[in-house]
Amino acid sequence: MSKLINGKEFADKLCEKIAVEVKKLKKKNIKPGLAVVRVGEDPASTVYVNMKAKKTEEVGMHSVTKILEENTSQEELLKIVEDLNNDDSINGILVQLPLPKQINEDSVINSINPDKDVDGFHAINTGRMWSNIDSLVPCTPLGCKMLLLDELKDLTGKKAIIIGRSNIVGKPMAALLIGESCTVTIAHSRTKNLEDEVKKNDIVVAAVGVPEMIKGSWIKAGATVIDVGINRIEKDGKKKLVGDVEFDEAEKIAGAITPVPGGVGPMTIACLLHNTLIATCRINKIEIPKFF
Ligand code: NDP
Repeated sequence: MSKLINGKEFADKLCEKIAVEVKKLKKKNIKPGLAVVRVGEDPASTVYVNMKAKKTEEVGMHSVTKILEENTSQEELLKIVEDLNNDDSINGILVQLPLPKQINEDSVINSINPDKDVDGFHAINTGRMWSNIDSLVPCTPLGCKMLLLDELKDLTGKKAIIIGRSNIVGKPMAALLIGESCTVTIAHSRTKNLEDEVKKNDIVVAAVGVPEMIKGSWIKAGATVIDVGINRIEKDGKKKLVGDVEFDEAEKIAGAITPVPGGVGPMTIACLLHNTLIATCRINKIEIPKFF
């Protein structure tokens, strides 16, 4: 049986450390502020945005949530982002994706001041991340990297495969693992012989969005498995959340594995708060605390 990587516990500890740093900043009359913008009533986005606001307040940060109508125009949204860019009480801005069809996501993301882009999706932050220059790094891959470093300590020379090449998870994950001197393979829907590819690796990061697609028998014995997937399925008449990895079989073979829920999920919000703290420190030219 493999070790369970407890992302919930790690995320709680990270939030405690962030809260301590927020207190220190307040003594300097600085209160980190995070603004989250939601357009429309997508149920998953509504849950995520509410959770983000709650956690932001829990660590002592200033939280602003803007909820806009589904039919909001791109111009209206761009104006709101501009106002937040110019608002000194706001250090981090996140526009919850997906956006309604009438809005071009890239235009909105790239209108956020890169110094306040706590999702790390702005093209400038992407370029900085791939160039090893200080950047704001996308939250989910950052959380995966923290869990991997906590588990394995040193990733140098490890063979890692990332299944999924999205801008949100797969590609930034590859940049972060290359940065840790892993030998990285990125797989996607056109990859041939995925099973054989997965079997070669010490680290498997699954970010596919297909329930339990990565079979336990594909995992190399002792490998570390990070399951990013969050899939809502119905099994035996009950609704449940599963990852992209066939957990019950994979945990018999892997050295360590993240569960779903309770693995990567909680790390994403903790890393959002981490990024808001980093952005606040950079904007105020204060030394950035190190958490890992
Ligand atoms: P996307 O849909 O943007 O990307 C999915 C990727 O998986 C694509 O690159 C796609 O390949 C690849 N893929 C799809 N089917 C296959 C297949 N059969 N074989 C190999 N590769 C395949 O998803 P995201 O990256 O946004 O999210 C991935 C998962 O992670 C989802 O379950 C999502 O819910 C979850 N997620 C969880 C987060 C968290 O906080 N824990 C945060 C963000 C996402 P191609 O490019 O060729 O189409």
